[in-house]
Amino acid sequence: MRSKRPPLLLRIAACAIVTTAFADARTPAAAQTNPLWTEVEVKNYLPHMTVPEVQRFLERSDMVLIPVASLEQHGLHLPIGTDYINGVEQAKLIAQEVDVLVAPILLPGQSPYHMGFEGTITLPSTLVQEVYVEAVKSLINHGFKRFLIMNAHGGNRAITTFIVDRINQETAGIAVDLGAASAPFRDRAMAATAPVPDRTVLDRHGGTPETSSSLYLMPTLVDMEAAEPATVSMPDHLEAMLPEVLAGDPTALTVFLAEGLKDASTGKGTSSSEMSSTGVWGTRDPSEATLERGRTMTRVFVDAAVGFVRRWNEIRPPS
Ligand SMILES: [Zn+2]
Repeated sequence: MRSKRPPLLLRIAACAIVTTAFADARTPAAAQTNPLWTEVEVKNYLPHMTVPEVQRFLERSDMVLIPVASLEQHGLHLPIGTDYINGVEQAKLIAQEVDVLVAPILLPGQSPYHMGFEGTITLPSTLVQEVYVEAVKSLINHGFKRFLIMNAHGGNRAITTFIVDRINQETAGIAVDLGAASAPFRDRAMAATAPVPDRTVLDRHGGTPETSSSLYLMPTLVDMEAAEPATVSMPDHLEAMLPEVLAGDPTALTVFLAEGLKDASTGKGTSSSEMSSTGVWGTRDPSEATLERGRTMTRVFVDAAVGFVRRWNEIRPPS
């Protein structure tokens, strides 16, 4: 069990609820409103939009941004919904700068290798891609044409590629993988602004990059007091590759990831509960994460995505 002091903003919110309850004694209408409701309407975010708003959107744009998410363990300090929430928040930020419709479809994705930790939900890869392709067909039916499929979880990489290919091969829609499509724009921005990656220590799932992004994107859901360094062990042959992986050898990384973080049933000994004491895949202390780094990483990604969308609109305007 982790003990958790409510983050400052939640404590302020709790005070606000008490104050509201007092005020409600004199305003019966407000007393009937859900005391937990904090959501603010976000532009171009499908779940918040009415039919007339979707109709007006279609007069401005035919482009949809779909995050491909997951519900899985993220160590002791980040919530199960980290990938879903961070993905949707990034998508919303992009949609404030260019007209793309943000349409989240599923919360869980493919995460069998995190099932050793409570709370993880995993779905078969074939089912996940089927759901997204069917959802895209609905949107095409309403007049949407172009789709940015944005992977928000490493375990969905191949699924994302497959969804993009199925949309392009089987429907009237046109799809790109936003991560790949925005990479040329990101590389330019990254060189100018992002911190140099630490090449001395493993720092992947739930580590300082993801924790930093979370501090920026969903600050009230990060429990930094619970963050602690993981004890990580892995099969000897993977441990032996580690120096070359950390040094940035792309071939070593490919071979390492082909075996790393796989379902316990494969017998590879590389599911997260077999390798990590906390669920974080890395030995760097997640407490070293910073809001500033998260803001920079998010800014670089959002700018790159916006850059790609503007270029796509130039090269192939809505028809
Ligand atoms: Zn994650």
